[in-house]
This record gives sequence, structure tokens and C-alpha cells, in this order.
Amino acid sequence: MSEYRAPLKDMQFLLHDVFQVETLWSQLPELAELIDKDTANAILEEGAKLSAEVIAPLNRNSDEQGAVWHEGQVTTPDGFKKAYQLYCDGGWGALSGDADFGGMGMPKMLQAAFEEMTQSASISFALYPMLTAGACLALAAHASTTMKSIYLENMYSGIWSGTMCLTEPHSGSDLGIMTSKAEDNGDDSFSISGTKIFITGGEHDLTENIIHLVLAKIPGAPAGPRGISMFVVPKFLVNSDGSIGERNTVSCGSIEHKMGIKGSATSVMNFDGAKGYLVGEQNKGLNYMFTMMNYERLGMGIQGIGAAEVSYQQAAAYAHDRMQGRSAIAEQRTDKVADPLIVHADVRRMLLTMRSLNEAGRCFSTYVAKQLDLVKFSENLEEKNQAEQLVALLTPVAKAFLTDMSYDNCGLGQMVFGGHGYIREWGQEQLVRDVRIAQIYEGTNGIQSLDLLGRKVVASKGQLYSVYQNEISQFIKIHQDNEALNDFIKPLQQSLAKLDELTQFILTNSQQDKNLVGASATDYLAVFGYVSYAYMWALMAEKSLTKTEQDEFYQAKLYVGQFYVQRILPRVDSHMQAVLAGSEPLMTMPAALFGYKE
Ligand SMILES: Cc1cc2nc3c(=O)[nH]c(=O)nc-3n(C[C@H](O)[C@H](O)[C@H](O)COP(=O)(O)OP(=O)(O)OC[C@H]3O[C@@H](n4cnc5c(N)ncnc54)[C@H](O)[C@@H]3O)c2cc1C
Repeated sequence: MSEYRAPLKDMQFLLHDVFQVETLWSQLPELAELIDKDTANAILEEGAKLSAEVIAPLNRNSDEQGAVWHEGQVTTPDGFKKAYQLYCDGGWGALSGDADFGGMGMPKMLQAAFEEMTQSASISFALYPMLTAGACLALAAHASTTMKSIYLENMYSGIWSGTMCLTEPHSGSDLGIMTSKAEDNGDDSFSISGTKIFITGGEHDLTENIIHLVLAKIPGAPAGPRGISMFVVPKFLVNSDGSIGERNTVSCGSIEHKMGIKGSATSVMNFDGAKGYLVGEQNKGLNYMFTMMNYERLGMGIQGIGAAEVSYQQAAAYAHDRMQGRSAIAEQRTDKVADPLIVHADVRRMLLTMRSLNEAGRCFSTYVAKQLDLVKFSENLEEKNQAEQLVALLTPVAKAFLTDMSYDNCGLGQMVFGGHGYIREWGQEQLVRDVRIAQIYEGTNGIQSLDLLGRKVVASKGQLYSVYQNEISQFIKIHQDNEALNDFIKPLQQSLAKLDELTQFILTNSQQDKNLVGASATDYLAVFGYVSYAYMWALMAEKSLTKTEQDEFYQAKLYVGQFYVQRILPRVDSHMQAVLAGSEPLMTMPAALFGYKE
């Protein structure tokens, strides 16, 4: 099995060539002084070393050994503690944290590249700091200054970790029906009771304290999602001088045995009148969680890309080495009994599919990260407002489309290995098992597609869609006379016209057909994703075209981009036909005919 190598050149190409971050950052006052090209490259290089040399070597054992629960304590796999310490010593947990509370304040575009590397190295490991970063984001955005000063610095430094406690046994996608309760103690605290399940990093041995962000209902709160509040519930209470105090009544009942990410402790957490502190205002908990989720959901997409990148690297190396069959044209290796797999069109189909989707996915996640940075750092209200709308629209796509494509890609990587892909030693089967969860947690991809189509496109009467559509149309207009870019602009224009038609079809018919949004959402998100990737390929091709003479890196970009528009983009048509068929084929069969009803 070949080693993981962080795709630094790709990341630098996106940052410096495609999105021209030097210009962007120089226009954002908070970033102008903080970061330049050399600093960004140095950070990425250090991140690449940490990921490839420290974290990646732990991944296989973390799968075999897993996290282990014993009498309420969880032991992480061998090596995690030491690697986590190195992660913290390097200040990685503080990378994009709030500078007033010990963070470094770096842009999300850079953080996203670093996240991809750690996810490639080991999803199980990367989840521990990832959840902490998410909890920090929610606190930084919504907690009082006092609360931030108690928790944030220790969380950025990694001395304490964080969790996100939403899910309950009977309440997953539908958080409005949760029953965890928060009773006012009459001082500044609440008494939290209930059981949360599937809590990532709910218990472990990496940090001296774990800060749980818990969603619960205060008695008398409105029913449904509008009655949910957010609380900080530390594993150990924190004394007024900041030292660790007595143990809170929160405990880990068990951890799950699961398909993948076995080194990540997926915990059942019992809150038995645990002391908790309200974050922000009552009944705003779900809104606060969504602030964080815009980042986390992009993080899930990046997790997918991380896994699919490793799968590609290993599959490409294998396709050069493995000798099977002969080329359809002429023997390539007359010195051998067979040619390498790379000569076969079908193997190339798998590799190019993976690569074209991975690279477009990385470009798309960088694009969304750029919008998050504009929301956070821009002082131009119009620009900020537009970025906010794009974040709202594109977050579900970044989560669902990237993870759907990544799961498929890991399956293709496994297939390049044939039977050996099914065998443990090559690592491909672990990637398939590990990456599957990214489609499920943080809101299933089905729920993401409903968010995109129902809450974003239809609820805004197409207004959010038009912000993105206008940007792409503008790009097409600017470049439509550029003949060299024709191969990318024409297919983009045609596929965007199809997405427009589909959007209009749903806007027109969804009032009358109440099932239309639900019936169309997954296919609509797929069309949206493929068109977005065509836009990303056009952006990358435009920057690569002028450089083909100099470097085969840019030549490869153009080959892979051509493959995307010719072989992958036509998938738009089948998804489109599915939507245009309406809800009838799904909804007319009586429920009883599905069978198996008890
Ligand atoms: C390994 C792992 C780690 C996790 N980590 C965390 C964590 O740290 N914190 C946390 O709070 N949770 C966590 N979760 C929980 C995860 O977010 C939920 O499992 C997920 O959101 C789905 O909820 P559910 O399992 O209850 O499925 P359900 O909500 O029961 O959904 C079942 C199926 O029905 C579909 N569905 C449900 N409602 C609708 C609807 N209205 N319309 C259309 N389709 C619908 C879903 O898309 C899904 O396909 C984790 C889960 C796992 C497995």
C-alpha cells in the first residue's frame, strides 16, 4: 500500500491561482496583516507533514483496535494520545479560532485544506479535534464574553475537547421531538437530564475535560424546534479560578460498535441532573447549532474528499504496478507477460471519474470556504450579504454532493484493486467503511437535499438560487468568446440552462403537488452538484490554459476537466428526467403494498 501524500500543489493551485487569495486577503483588513502566500504555504507544508508522518500511520491500527469502553471510561487506540499532543503542540486546534480568546484567526480557506489532510490521514483521529472546533465556533458566535473566557482558550489549545449533543434515541432528523430537559436551578445554572446517543468523542482519554454542547428543552418552552435551548455541560465543572473542579453528573453508558471510524468513540451520554449553563438566549439553541453546522457540514464534504483522495492515490499507484491483460492497441510491456492496468479504458474510466470528481469537490469546498471567509471578514455589506446567501444555498450541496461522490469514488478505488480491494491489507475496504458515515451524520444527505430544495430554493421563491445563477452566468458571459475555453463554457452554459428549467419546474408546480419537493430533492441536488462542478472545472481550466507549456500539472488539469464535461456531466440528464416525472411514481403505490407491515 502506498503512503498518503498531501496534494499540496493542488491546494496551492486553488488558493493562489484559482481563488487568488493574496488579492482577496489583502482586501480584508483582519487578514491583510495576518497572512500572505508564504505563510499560507508554510502552514500547509507543516500540516502535510503532521498528517502524513504522525496521523496517517495510526489509521490502520485504529480500525483494528478501535476505541474501547470500560466502566464509563474510553481508551483511544494506541498512538492517538501522542499524536493528539503533537497536534496540540503545533497549535492546530487554534488555527482559525477567535484571536481574542487564544485563536490564530486564520481564514477558513486555509483551515479547509488542513482539514482535508487530517481527514485523509485518519477520519477517526480527525473527528476528535473537528468536534472541538465545531463547539468552539458555536461558543465564539453565541456565548457571553465570560463564558468564552472560561472555555475557549483551553479548547483551542486542545487541553479540553468539545462535543455536540443533539441526537436522542427517538429524535434524529426530527430534533423538535427531543425530550432532554433543562430545569432552572435559580442560580446561573440549569439541571440537565436526558440521554443523548451517537455522540462523537463523548468520552475519551485525550483531554483533561470534555465540554458538551447539549440541546435540551426548558419546561414551558414552545413545542417543536422553537423550544430548544443550548447548554454548556462540562464533564468536570470549572472552578472560578479556571481550575478543574468536581465531576459533573454526565457519564458515558457505552460506545457503539460500528461499520467504520472505529477509533472514534461514538458514545451514549447520560445526563443525570448534570449542571449546565445556558448559551445565549433561551429557545435559540437550534439556530445556534446551525451557525456551527454551516462549518461542520462543509467539514463533512471535506472529510469525504479526504478519504476519496487517498483512495485515488492508492488506486492510481496500483494501476501502474499491477500487470493484467494486454492493451487493446499494442502490447506496451513486451518484457512482461501482461501490461499494467492503466492501459485499459475501463480502469482509466474509474481513475478519471475519481480524479475529476475529487478535484472539482476540492475546488467547490474551497469556493464555499471563501464565502464563509467573506461572511466573517468582509467589511463590504453587499459582498457580505451575497456571501451569506451563497453559504445558505451551497452548504447542503457541499455536505451531500461531496460525500455522495466520495463514497462512490472510494468504491471505484476499491474496484481498481479487484479482489485485493476487498482484502484488508490494501486499505481500500477501510476507506469505504469509514467514509460511509459522512453521508449519514450531520443530517442525512436526504435531509440535506430537502434543505436545499425546500428551505433554500423554494422558500426563497428562487431568490437564493438566482444569486448563484447570476454569478455563473456572468462568468459564462465574460468568457464566451474565449475559444480556448469553449470546451468548458458551452457544456456549462447548457447544463446551467437545464438546472434553470428544473428549478422553474419545481417553483411552478410545488404549490399544487405537495410531494414534489420531497420527490425531487435528491435528484435536484445531484443536478445542482454536477452543474456546480462544471463551473469549478471551468474556473480551473481558465487558470490552467495559459500554463500548459510550462508544467504537466496544468496539462493534467485540462485532460481531467475534459473528461468531466464529456463523461460525467451528462449524468445531469437522467437526474433531470427523474425530477420531471413528478411525484406520482413514488406516491401512488399504497403504503400497504410495500409489505412487511407488522
Ligand atoms: C457514527 C455516528 C456519529 C454521530 N455523531 C453525532 C454527534 O456527535 N452528535 C449528534 O448529536 N449526533 C450524532 N450522530 C447522529 C446522526 O447525526 C443521526 O444519526 C442522523 O442525523 C440521522 O438521524 P437518525 O439516525 O435518527 O435517522 P432518522 O431521522 O430516523 O432517519 C431515517 C431515514 O429517514 C429519512 N428521513 C427522516 N426524516 C425525514 C423527512 N422528514 N423527510 C424525508 N426523509 C426523512 C432520513 O434521511 C433517513 O434516511 C452520529 C451518528 C453516527 C452513526
